[in-house]
Amino acid sequence: MRDQFARNIDYLRLSVTDRCNLRCLYCMPEEGVSLKKHEEILTLEELHLISQAAVSMGIKKIRLTGGEPLVRKGIVDLVAMIKGISGLEELSLTTNGTLLKSLGPALKKAGLDRINISLDTLDAQKYQQITRGGDVNQVLDGIDVALELGLEPVKINCVLVDGFNNDEIHKFVLLAEGKPLHIRFIELMPIGEGQKKQDGYLPLEPLKKQLIEAYGLLPSSKVKANGPADQFVLPGGKGTIGFIGAVTNHFCHKCNRLRVTADGKIKPCLDSGFEVDLIGVLRGKGSQKALRDVFLEAINAKPSGHNMNLWEYGQNRLMSQIGG
Ligand code: SAM
Ligand code: SF4
Repeated sequence: MRDQFARNIDYLRLSVTDRCNLRCLYCMPEEGVSLKKHEEILTLEELHLISQAAVSMGIKKIRLTGGEPLVRKGIVDLVAMIKGISGLEELSLTTNGTLLKSLGPALKKAGLDRINISLDTLDAQKYQQITRGGDVNQVLDGIDVALELGLEPVKINCVLVDGFNNDEIHKFVLLAEGKPLHIRFIELMPIGEGQKKQDGYLPLEPLKKQLIEAYGLLPSSKVKANGPADQFVLPGGKGTIGFIGAVTNHFCHKCNRLRVTADGKIKPCLDSGFEVDLIGVLRGKGSQKALRDVFLEAINAKPSGHNMNLWEYGQNRLMSQIGG
């Protein structure tokens, strides 16, 4: 599927819940959010129907996200259902990793291909602070389980927050040295709670230059490029180091994705409040053709780029309601 700027749209991020067992400072407010009622959230069958329509239109990769996808009841069944769709090339998931130790084996058996795990600090106390109560050891165990199960490449998403975790960059590099992990440092985005944290925003370009010099990083094609990360080989290491300059480094010209929120809206662009209603069409007993028409509308509405560098954000959804 080509959009009006000739970009090939072949990647769908599917948020399966707006709930989460953590409350990351830049993602969800402390008091939580008014969660959607169960009946407002896409059912497993609806998520499957949407995935079928998307794949029939040329989507090759689907990523399940949230909120926290592993708190969604039936997530293992959902993985098996979506994995069974003919034409889908890759099914992956983004998780905070806290429930991976227990759910990893079943997810792998159900057909999950690979996984991204979010981890901003390796320090137990700081992890508790940034997630408002999480246990970093659960995540570290989850990472080892993902590696043992071969949910590879295992990517680690680390959002850099100035004054909080930029003193740990070396520790993350060491992690990629010892294990086949693909660390991606990510710029804090002005989305939802992130918009209130501008003082924590750290542009990645200077850091990238420093790390290339300090560690002799080499450009890499080793990790399949699935979009925005600028990935480097770490000489002598088992993993790689990457940078996602979501705010400063517009990768919009190669944007290949659509997002579906847990309450069934398609978001053509992360940075825009514009959404196309999918759940209404589905529940109005829309056919696969009707769903495809909604996808077409969303693809045609994809803007050429975002304006996050102005630290402006044109909508009221939290990142936990979009899925990253
Ligand atoms: N709960 C899962 C997790 O944490 O991986 C999946 C959903 S979470 C919204 C997806 C990704 O968005 C995470 O890697 C998280 O760090 C990132 N994220 C959330 N808010 C962000 C913000 N304001 N700026 C940059 N990344 C953000
Ligand atoms: Fe939950 Fe993920 Fe948001 Fe953290 S980043 S609050 S784990 S949805």
